[in-house]
Amino acid sequence: MPLNRALLLDTLCALELRFPDDALARLDRYADLLAETNRQFNLTAVTEPDEVTIKHFADCLSLFSYVEFPQNASVIDVGTGAGFPGLVLKLVRPDLSVTFLDSTKKKLGFIENVLAAVSLTGETVHARAEEAGQDAQFRERFDFATARAVAALPVLSEYCLPFVKQGGAFLAMKSAAAEEEIDKARGAIHLLGGQVESDFLFDLAKNMPRRIVTVRKISQTPPKYPRPSAKIAKNPLK
Ligand code: SAM
Repeated sequence: MPLNRALLLDTLCALELRFPDDALARLDRYADLLAETNRQFNLTAVTEPDEVTIKHFADCLSLFSYVEFPQNASVIDVGTGAGFPGLVLKLVRPDLSVTFLDSTKKKLGFIENVLAAVSLTGETVHARAEEAGQDAQFRERFDFATARAVAALPVLSEYCLPFVKQGGAFLAMKSAAAEEEIDKARGAIHLLGGQVESDFLFDLAKNMPRRIVTVRKISQTPPKYPRPSAKIAKNPLK
């Protein structure tokens, strides 16, 4: 049992968050499968139960403190890895329509297994964000794009904003040290049709400050974005 339920509830209480028992039971199942699968192939370097509880589960659940997700909203989790934050969102809010995007197929297979284990569904997309963002099937189709630990904000904005509908939002989960990153990304965000709406700095736990940056999509992303990977890497938007 890798999830420390008491620690999770204490941390959520401090964030003024509560979730129903069935949602917590689904998170337990997810954590069990994460531990089991992580013994077969590398999904996460965080394995100690209290750390998994705080750094993965409570961290992702903290999104609910600062973001209102309307009923049935669509979310794409870009660079979802083992499902953070997208799978946590789906397990506590099954009404959300969550798409899981990652360039590593094995991780998406894990997400499919967890969804099946808790009898939920979600679309997995095996692609690079900069390719999927040019595909009409995904472009400007989502109410929210989320991302945690994928890239610095100027690059991440080019990956994520093309997926978001006008009026929707890109939610970047960042470390407390990202203030400079946010300033550096303002020009890129503007070019991509977004605007920084809020930047919440909070303590996830003792000595664990975190930020949630909300970027509102206020106009269409010009068709040339996202650019091919090599161009993004060579010349990140400023
Ligand atoms: N979001 C998860 C989390 O917070 O635990 C995973 C973070 S992991 C450090 C970064 C993930 O992003 C990896 O699974 C990697 O395959 C994926 N990734 C990185 N660049 C990507 C891109 N351009 N398109 C799609 N996935 C990408």
